[in-house]
Amino acid sequence: MANDTIVALATAPGESAVAITRLSGPRALAIAAARFRGRVSPETSPSHRILFGSFLAGDGAPIDTVLLSVFRDPHSYTGEDVVEISSHGGVAISRAILDALVSEGARPARPGEFTERAYRNGKLDLAQAESVAALVRARSERSLRAARSALGGSLSRKIAAIDGVLVPLLAEVEARIDFPVDVGEALDGETLAGRCAEMTATLRGWVERLPAARRVQEGVRAALVGRPNVGKSSLLNALVGYDRAIVTETPGTTRDTVEESIWIDGVEIRLADTAGLRAPTDRVERFGVERSERAARECDVAVLVLDRSSTVGDADREAAALLEDRPVVVAWNKADLGAGARERAPVAPSSLVAEVETIAVREDGAETLRGALQYALPRVLGDHVGEELASTSARQEALLAEALAAVERAEAGLRANESYDLIAVDLADARRALGEIVGRGVDQDVVAAIFSRFCIGK
Ligand code: GDP
Repeated sequence: MANDTIVALATAPGESAVAITRLSGPRALAIAAARFRGRVSPETSPSHRILFGSFLAGDGAPIDTVLLSVFRDPHSYTGEDVVEISSHGGVAISRAILDALVSEGARPARPGEFTERAYRNGKLDLAQAESVAALVRARSERSLRAARSALGGSLSRKIAAIDGVLVPLLAEVEARIDFPVDVGEALDGETLAGRCAEMTATLRGWVERLPAARRVQEGVRAALVGRPNVGKSSLLNALVGYDRAIVTETPGTTRDTVEESIWIDGVEIRLADTAGLRAPTDRVERFGVERSERAARECDVAVLVLDRSSTVGDADREAAALLEDRPVVVAWNKADLGAGARERAPVAPSSLVAEVETIAVREDGAETLRGALQYALPRVLGDHVGEELASTSARQEALLAEALAAVERAEAGLRANESYDLIAVDLADARRALGEIVGRGVDQDVVAAIFSRFCIGK
C-alpha cells in the first residue's frame, strides 16, 4: 500500500453548485481532521458517515461549510482511508481547500492516481480500471451501459471463462511434450483441435464485433451528402435542433472536424458538418469539396440529400458515387416546392435503407429521417454488439486480436500434427495476451501509461 496521502479535486474545476475534493491514503483522516470543525471528528467517525462542519484556513478562518464523507480502509474506492469533502463549487473555494490539505501534508495526485491505487490494492482489475475511464468519457447511453457492465467485471468474467478452457488445454499439450506416448494414446490432435476451435470461435466473434463496438463507444459517423444547395445545412439544423438545445459544447474535445451530434436509440450519431461550407471562391470551394468527399468516404451511414423539386443530375450521381456500398438514407428535400417527376434515387438497391421526403426549412420530415437512421443502425452495428466490448480500449483490442491469432495458430498446428512444443508456445501466448487485459503480468510502465490518460481526481 502507498504510504503517502494524495489529494485532488474530483469534480470539474470552475464554477459549479458543488465541488468535491478527495483525499486518499494512510493520513487522510488525520489531515482532514486538522482543518475540520464539527460535532464528530473524521478521525473518530465510523466508515460511511457524512459529517457536517466548517473547513478552516491556516489562520483558523472558515473557508466554507462542508459535508465530509468518511470511508475507512478497505471499504473505499481506493481501498485506503478516503475522505471526500463536498464544498460549494468555485475556483477560490476549491483552491483554498486543496492548499489547506497540501499544507497539512497531502500530496497533489497525479492523473488517474486514485484509480491506480484501487487497482494496486486489488479493488479492480486492469480491465475494470480502464472501464472507469470509458465510463467518464461515455457520450451515449449505450456506451455508458457498456462501460458500466465492464466495470462490473463482465469482460473480466469472459476472459476468465476462456482461461478455464485454455489452461487445461495447455496443460494437456504440455503433458504430451513430456510424456508423448501415455497421453498420446488417450487424445489425438483432432480432439484437442476441437477444443481449441471453440475458443477460436468465441474469440473471433469478439474480434469481429469490435469495429461495431467502437462505433457504439465513439459514435456512428454519418454524413449529409449532396450537391450544393439541395438543403444539407438546413436538414442538419432540423435534425440537430432538439439535441443542440440539451447538449452543451465541450471545449477541448479532440475531434478534427466540426461535428454536430444527435442521439438515436442510445447511440451517438456524429453528423459531419460538411454542409456548413459555402462556396464563395474557387479555393474555398475546392477545400469544401475535398472535405465533403472525405466525410462521405469515411462515414458509416450517409444521408444522400436530393432536390425533390428538380431532376436528378450528374452532380447528384457524383455525390452518390462517393458512398459506394455504405447504408444510405435518401432525403428528398424541398418537397414543398412541388414534386418533379418521381425518379429513382441514384443509389444501389443493396445500399438503400429508406427514402423520406423532407422540407428542411420547416423541419418537416426530420423525425421521419431520424427514424430512417434508426432503421439503418443495425446495418452499421450488427444485431448484437457485446455490451462488454463497447468499452474496450485500443490496448485491450490489440490484445484480443493477439490472443485470437495465437489460438488460430495453435488450432491449425494441432490439425497439422505439428510439434507440441510449438503449439504450447502459441497457447501460452494466447493466455498471456488475455491475462494482460485484466492486468496479469503487465509491465509497470504500461500500467502507469494507462492511468496517466485518466483525468486528475479520478
Ligand atoms: P446546402 O448547400 O445543401 O447546405 O443547402 P442549404 O441548406 O444551404 O439550402 C440551400 C437553399 O435552399 C437555402 O436558401 C434554403 O433556405 C433552401 N432550402 C433548404 N431546404 C428547403 C426546403 O425544404 N424547402 C425550400 N423551399 N427551401 C429549402
